[in-house]
Amino acid sequence: MAVGVLALQGSFNEHIAALRKLGVKGVEIRKPEQLQSVVALIIPGGESTTMAKLAEYHNLFPALREFVKIGKPVWGTCAGLIFLANKATGQKTGGQELIGGLDCMVHRNFFGSQLQSFEAELLIPKIAAKEGGPPSFRGVFIRAPGILEVGPEVEVLADIPTPSNKTVHSGPSVESQEENGGSENKVIVAVKQGNLLATAFHPELTADTRWHSYFLKMISDVSEDTSSSTVSQSTEDLHFSEPPIYDLPIYQQQ
Ligand code: GLN
Repeated sequence: MAVGVLALQGSFNEHIAALRKLGVKGVEIRKPEQLQSVVALIIPGGESTTMAKLAEYHNLFPALREFVKIGKPVWGTCAGLIFLANKATGQKTGGQELIGGLDCMVHRNFFGSQLQSFEAELLIPKIAAKEGGPPSFRGVFIRAPGILEVGPEVEVLADIPTPSNKTVHSGPSVESQEENGGSENKVIVAVKQGNLLATAFHPELTADTRWHSYFLKMISDVSEDTSSSTVSQSTEDLHFSEPPIYDLPIYQQQ
């Protein structure tokens, strides 16, 4: 059994390489029926409008929504986060179809255009507690979205100060992140809600595999909770014997 990576467009190869580094097989998903053979799914970064058009063309939305609904773990990075959100703003005219399931409001291109892409050190106490390593993570933000509001079931895993020209909704969801040092001056960039994980940045473009390994643990937690056959694989079963390769990812912290 393997972890699916939606391979319509965007950084799916980098996710597959990161999984391989952890000894796990990533399978490219392009057709609805391919979802049946995977225990979990990663939706990569890329261009969410294009990805939505391709998903529609391949009739993937019903199967993707079902995948989320039955509780299989899904992780969206950047455009993948937009895809998973229940609500999005800053979309192109006419909007775009979303899978939904993640109770949040996401703002596309929150930090600006390609030129405003940046890297930032993020505090990740919950990930570091589970995965070890340093308390921070180098976030690569490429035309990244920001999460403006989250529902009560959503756990915030990382946030960062907003650019000075931005205002963020100061609703209770953001204000309640006191322990994260949060306030109306911060925007949320990583969340977990049940079996859904979402990051506005690109862990697959760094050498730090802790987000991938955290997601694999989410998969094995589901396996332990479920005695039925559909998602009963442990991460033990996910490991395969091909040797890991280390040519990716592209970002290596000094
Ligand atoms: N801004 C892009 C979008 O709206 C996402 C960028 C990314 O995935 N790096 O789809």
